[in-house]
Amino acid sequence: MSRHTSLKVGGPADLFAIPDDPDDLLALVNQLSTAGATWIAVGRGYNLLVKDGGIRGAVISLERFNRIEGQGEGRIRAEAGAENLEVVRFGQKAGLGGIGFISGIPGTIGGAVRMNAGAYGEGILERAACLTLLREGNLREFCLSELDYGYRRLSLQQGDILVSVLLQLEERDPVLTEEEIKKDLELRRTKHNVGFPSAGSFFKNPSGQAAWKLIDAAEMRGKSFGGAGVSEQHSNFLVNRGGATAADFLALAEMVKAAVLNTSGVTLEEEVRIVGEDPSR
Ligand SMILES: Cc1cc2nc3c(=O)[nH]c(=O)nc-3n(C[C@H](O)[C@H](O)[C@H](O)COP(=O)(O)OP(=O)(O)OC[C@H]3O[C@@H](n4cnc5c(N)ncnc54)[C@H](O)[C@@H]3O)c2cc1C
Repeated sequence: MSRHTSLKVGGPADLFAIPDDPDDLLALVNQLSTAGATWIAVGRGYNLLVKDGGIRGAVISLERFNRIEGQGEGRIRAEAGAENLEVVRFGQKAGLGGIGFISGIPGTIGGAVRMNAGAYGEGILERAACLTLLREGNLREFCLSELDYGYRRLSLQQGDILVSVLLQLEERDPVLTEEEIKKDLELRRTKHNVGFPSAGSFFKNPSGQAAWKLIDAAEMRGKSFGGAGVSEQHSNFLVNRGGATAADFLALAEMVKAAVLNTSGVTLEEEVRIVGEDPSR
C-alpha cells in the first residue's frame, strides 16, 4: 500500500481490485461477502495511513468511476473516482460554482465526500444533495438529511462504498470560479508545498483552535521519529523524510499528542484515516 498512499508507507493488501463499472463492483463485493472477506474503498490515498502489516481483505479503488454529468437545476453527478479539480472545472464550464475551495485538495471526489474535505471553513458535504452508496449488496441513494456528518466527518457503515455524489451548485460566472481555482492552487503551491510526502493536515483542528498553533506551542515543529517528521514549513503536516514506516508516523503522532496535551490540555484527534494491521512478530 506504500505505492498507493501519499505518505508512502503501509504493508501489502491481500487484494487490490479496480472494478470497471457498477456491475463489476457489485460482482466483486458479492464474491468477497461469500468468501467472508472484508474490504475498504479508497480514492488516491492522500489521507490514508496504512499500518506496516498491511490490510487483511480487499482494497477497492474506484479510479475507473470517473464520469461527471449535468443533471439540470444546478446539479451535477460525479462518480467517486473523479478528481476534485475536474469536478470544479466541469461545473465552471456549465456556469456553476461554489466548490472552488476543493480545487487544490488532492484526491478524488469520493475521498473528499468521505472525509467531508474542505478549506476556508467550508466542507464539500454542504454542497452535496445525495450520495449513492453500495450498502449490503445494494446500490441506494441517500439524501444528506439521512446521514450524520460534521467537520471532516461522515458516519457510514463498515463496508459502505460511495459510488457517486449529486452536488447542488450555484450559478456562478466562470471568471469568478477561475479566480477561486487560481487562488487555491497558488496557496497550495506555496504554503502546502512542504517538500516531502505528506497527507496534508495530520490532525483535525479542535473547535475554535488551530492544531498547528497548539503543535508549535508544544515545540514539536521539526521533531522526528525514525523517518517521520513534523514539517518545518507547516507543523500540522507530518512528513516522510525518507524511509519512514507507518510505525514511525504512529509513534511521532503519539509524541505530538502527548506534548500538546501537556502544554495546552487539548487532545488532538487524527484527521488522517489509520487502517490495517500491525506487523506480526
Ligand atoms: C498536500 C495535501 C494537502 C491537503 N489539503 C487538504 C485540505 O485543504 N483539506 C482537506 O480536507 N484535506 C486535505 N488533504 C487531505 C486529502 O487530500 C483529502 O482528505 C482528500 O479528500 C482525500 O482524497 P482521496 O481520494 O485521496 O481519499 P483516500 O485518502 O484514498 O481515502 C480517504 C478516506 O475515504 C475512504 N474512501 C475513499 N474513497 C471512498 C469511496 N469511494 N467510498 C467509501 N470510502 C472511501 C477511504 O477508505 C479513507 O478512509 C490534503 C492532503 C495533502 C497531501
